[in-house]
Amino acid sequence: MKLAVYWTGSCGGCDVAFLELGPALLDLLPKLEIVFWPALVDAKRADLEKLPKHGIDVALVNGVLRTTENVEMAELLREKSRWLGAFGACAHLGGVPALANPGEGIAEVVFGPGFRPAPPLGEAPEDAPPELLPEALPLEEVVPVDFVVPGCPPPAGLIARFFAVALAEEIQPGQVFAAEKALCEECPRTREERRLARLVRPHEALADPTKCLLDQGMVCLGPVTRGGCAAACPKAGMPCTGCLGPTPKAGDPALAMLSALASLVRAGEEGEPAFPEEDRILEGLVDPLGTLYKYAFAKYGRPLRRLARRRQEVRA
Ligand code: SF4
Ligand code: SF4
Repeated sequence: MKLAVYWTGSCGGCDVAFLELGPALLDLLPKLEIVFWPALVDAKRADLEKLPKHGIDVALVNGVLRTTENVEMAELLREKSRWLGAFGACAHLGGVPALANPGEGIAEVVFGPGFRPAPPLGEAPEDAPPELLPEALPLEEVVPVDFVVPGCPPPAGLIARFFAVALAEEIQPGQVFAAEKALCEECPRTREERRLARLVRPHEALADPTKCLLDQGMVCLGPVTRGGCAAACPKAGMPCTGCLGPTPKAGDPALAMLSALASLVRAGEEGEPAFPEEDRILEGLVDPLGTLYKYAFAKYGRPLRRLARRRQEVRA
């Protein structure tokens, strides 16, 4: 199988994640011909351009699309590949990097007031530095995506399953290599859906080792997130942050989780505490956007932000 792996706006964790396959890599590598993978082999963009259309069997892109160069490379890989997949939460949903958007002065926030990008290295068009996009985008907003291997980074079990399916030439269009059911289904913690009296962050409480973290007031996104990781984080005492993406049933993970939290504080039920009490509990949800859209802001949160801006303009 002719394989390409490419990173766009990425932390590098997705490239390293392949090593999690361990000794299974020794069986896998002889079945692969790596035709392009900048993190591993010294192939250049010109080498990719020379490949015929569909000269790559499978291309895996990790990272959010942040620059004009990211977009050009995604389009080039799309043209050269039979199958193109989003690998990891950043390519799938925007991921953590998409919580910061260039349109909001990200370069000046990071590098200081007055920061300007370096001037071109030479006169040729290719010497010009890439430009930041107005918004960081998931891969599917730029090119058609055939399948997704989700996670931040994808867990070894899902990577192994992807390679088994790809090598058997059995990828289904639109396939997501994770469960359709929620993570709670595979979590060993016991859930009672108890009424919440307060929300706590993981460092503010010593969690009971067997009971559901959400029942203990931690914002665990297990009810709205795809399974597939064997509940690695909840097993270790950390609430799920949603890296495998929302289940098809949940849709927008932030709205689905807000709905779940509202029902757990019994919001609006007859004879239950008045709204101020419910509000007090929900105020314990620190950084709602960063918590509920930790990986999915670029896919689901941007339309909401545009709507909020439009409302402000109309009001003004
Ligand atoms: Fe890094 Fe996670 Fe994005 Fe992969 S999905 S590039 S591990 S931040
Ligand atoms: Fe679901 Fe999280 Fe509770 Fe486990 S700890 S049952 S994943 S809500």
